[in-house]
Amino acid sequence: MESSLVRSKFSEHFGGKPGGIYCAPGRINLIGEHTDYNGGFVFPGAIDKCMTAEIRLNGTVKVRAYAVDLDDYAEFGLSEEDKPQKAWARYLFGVCREMQKRGYEVQGFDTAFSGNIPLGAGLSSSAALESVFAFALNDLLQFGIDRFELARIGQATEHNYCGVNCGIMDQFASLFGKAGSLMRLDCKTLEYEYYPFRPEGYRLVLVDSMVKHELASSEYNKRRKSCENVVAAIKSRHPEVEYLRDAGMDWLEEVKDMVSGEDYSRAEYVIGEVRRVLEVCDALEKGDYDMVGQKMYETHYGMSRLYEVSCAELDLLNDVAKRCGVTGSRVMGGGFGGCTINLVKEELHDRFVGEACKALREKFGREAGVYDVVISDGARRVK
Ligand code: ADP
Ligand code: MG
Repeated sequence: MESSLVRSKFSEHFGGKPGGIYCAPGRINLIGEHTDYNGGFVFPGAIDKCMTAEIRLNGTVKVRAYAVDLDDYAEFGLSEEDKPQKAWARYLFGVCREMQKRGYEVQGFDTAFSGNIPLGAGLSSSAALESVFAFALNDLLQFGIDRFELARIGQATEHNYCGVNCGIMDQFASLFGKAGSLMRLDCKTLEYEYYPFRPEGYRLVLVDSMVKHELASSEYNKRRKSCENVVAAIKSRHPEVEYLRDAGMDWLEEVKDMVSGEDYSRAEYVIGEVRRVLEVCDALEKGDYDMVGQKMYETHYGMSRLYEVSCAELDLLNDVAKRCGVTGSRVMGGGFGGCTINLVKEELHDRFVGEACKALREKFGREAGVYDVVISDGARRVK
């Protein structure tokens, strides 16, 4: 178990009395991709893969941190000029600094931490890292910060200390997760709602294409620009439109001649995707997992053909899923690499995974990663 590993490493490094043990999970997003910056909905859930940290205040103004999985150690102070060199340590430092900027008096601590979330696979190991420290410090030092602000602290850490200009979904999911529930987050108003997700007889499995998202940032900016172009066109007729989320297909149709074919397709994907999230919510309330799966395939099609953020490896994994009769499958995350998320009937699971790995190996010479996940609780104290 993760917490016993952390316990023994903490004790080996720092000795003395045990600290508090906390964990914060990674996340999946069932549906709702490229909707966040369009003011739409995302639909994440926390998973049963976590970052676990033991933390004990040390009575100094220094942090002494041991990253068990990397077998690496860092020590740093709590002033801005103490920013550590090591990338992993910046997540901890950033959380401390963002708390201080908000007026909380962070104190030095000793910590050992370890996780079982694959790094860089799109399951947000970084948000789990921020969330576990934000949650733990808030608890140990009794700051009384609410979970939403803790998520903002994690997000600001990525922005200001890790060079990643992310939205709030990942930290939100890690902090607000609930077993058996997904969360529909409205990225325009930040309102959220829980929906039941208990797919009995199904498994959720991620298949990692092992393609890294290298194209992602320049292509991402082009997609954002397309969305802005279409918003500007729609706005000339419907001034109240602020985001694509505010428009329906009918308004997009009205401006068809004012925008490029490419921009039109991209907006068509986004408007469809916002609607699909709502359709999936309805389906879940009825327990209609076939419908959920169908929407996942529609998303994959849209991301691949309209938004053009898939790649050959991801399309292959999606095709294999379809061929095996998997209920739902789509690329998860921004695209250009990473995982597909698959809703698979229990009895099909092993055959699908086998076929997916074989196809990726034979066609692309890549060894797929396979991660089974269960929707679980958010950040919490373990001991
Ligand atoms: P992800 O999609 O998993 O969030 P990122 O690139 O955003 O990928 O974050 C990965 C980074 O987070 C790693 O490079 C490392 O700095 C840090 N990290 C994640 N998991 C761990 C871990 N178990 N131990 C130490 N650092 C970690
Ligand atoms: Mg990350």
